[in-house]
Amino acid sequence: MELMPTQTINLTNILLEDAVEARRIKYRSTRYIVLIGELYRRGFSKVLQRCVAGEETNKILKDVHSGVCENHTGGKSLAHKVLRQGFYWPILFAEAQWFTESCESCQRTANDIRQPPKLLRSLTSPWPFAMWGLDLIGPMSTGTKGGTKHAIVAVDYFSKWTEAVNKVIKHTLKAKLEAKKGSWVDKLPEVLWAYRTTVRSSTGETHFAMAFGTKVVIPAEITFTSHRVQLYSLEHNVNMLQQNLDELEEVRDVAQVRNTAYQQKAARYYNSHVRERRFQLKDLVLRRVSSNTKDKSAGSLADKWEGPYIIKGVTGHGAYMIARPKGSVIPRPCNAQYTLRFSTPKEPIHIFC
Ligand SMILES: [Zn+2]
Repeated sequence: MELMPTQTINLTNILLEDAVEARRIKYRSTRYIVLIGELYRRGFSKVLQRCVAGEETNKILKDVHSGVCENHTGGKSLAHKVLRQGFYWPILFAEAQWFTESCESCQRTANDIRQPPKLLRSLTSPWPFAMWGLDLIGPMSTGTKGGTKHAIVAVDYFSKWTEAVNKVIKHTLKAKLEAKKGSWVDKLPEVLWAYRTTVRSSTGETHFAMAFGTKVVIPAEITFTSHRVQLYSLEHNVNMLQQNLDELEEVRDVAQVRNTAYQQKAARYYNSHVRERRFQLKDLVLRRVSSNTKDKSAGSLADKWEGPYIIKGVTGHGAYMIARPKGSVIPRPCNAQYTLRFSTPKEPIHIFC
């Protein structure tokens, strides 16, 4: 138990026996005054701040943070506001901080965490077409053919990174479609062709050359007659194709070395921004609201996070099995990137007895 200095002096007129403590209380007590039985502190932002204690502190925090005219501000801002309203207690700033951190409304509407929760783990395939990744793009605007809304992307890991491929495909589709978003299915082959015939900085080669061993002739070279189109002869071309195939193994080796260096460089950059988030079994968490679970009637005012859920299992590299506290386990694991620790209201720390 710790007592306010002025309270001790004015209410009991007895100083502590410890000379150092007594001197400290005398020094600090100059900022306090008792008026009509109430203890006040002389503040800087407000002349007199009533010293409050016990349950009253929690009620004041609740009223100032989430009352009728309040706006769910952060801990420091909340503490300053309490002081300006004319209230004071010694651990006001610490209590205001934990109060805002455990406010359910603040947690549900919290901004996304941009920093990655785990170190990047690169996958390198030993040879072309040995490892594949599958991912889904969509939902997109309903296609004019058959009402298609999604595309499945199969990616060869030897030279591509799934996420990067998805981004490039979506970006190119947007640029090519302009206003006719529904015709994305028709444009998809063109987008893939453009992607496969563009030199990637990670390997220094086009995906077409990595797969077939030779450089592709693009339509522009035929339309505007490039040098090699002008000098084309069937017999010479067959010889060149065979020579290219002989050279292919070495080209792939060089590309792999270059790709590995590129991945390491990217990983160094990515890992420098990591803010590790790990969860234990039984931890309470919130999950990022997805397009499937979003409350569409709330529009842009909808919560960003849903839950709380409870951690039921750790499945691997930053993925967790979660369940409703009194419900069944959700079948799909949840990535730490889309998971936020949920803080429940803590017991206030009473310093007056
Ligand atoms: Zn709040």
